Amino acid sequence: MNAGNQGGNQGGNQGGNPGSQMNPGDEAAPGTPGTGEDLCPQCSGKGKLGDGTPCPNCGGTGKIVEGIGGG
Ligand SMILES: [Zn+2]
Repeated sequence: MNAGNQGGNQGGNQGGNPGSQMNPGDEAAPGTPGTGEDLCPQCSGKGKLGDGTPCPNCGGTGKIVEGIGGG
């Protein structure tokens, strides 16, 4: 019986993709099932803070990735 060897290798390691970096405000990598883009709550989707500095939460994109629904 080798039934114990399933599912241990999912989702933990998605690195090395230039252009798909996660930002501090992201809950998951872009394209992750069950997640979607939403406006960054820190900068209201502007990508900048009130003083004009790039928003660190979304990396200046104005959008973050967060889980949909959840539970
Ligand atoms: Zn932001």
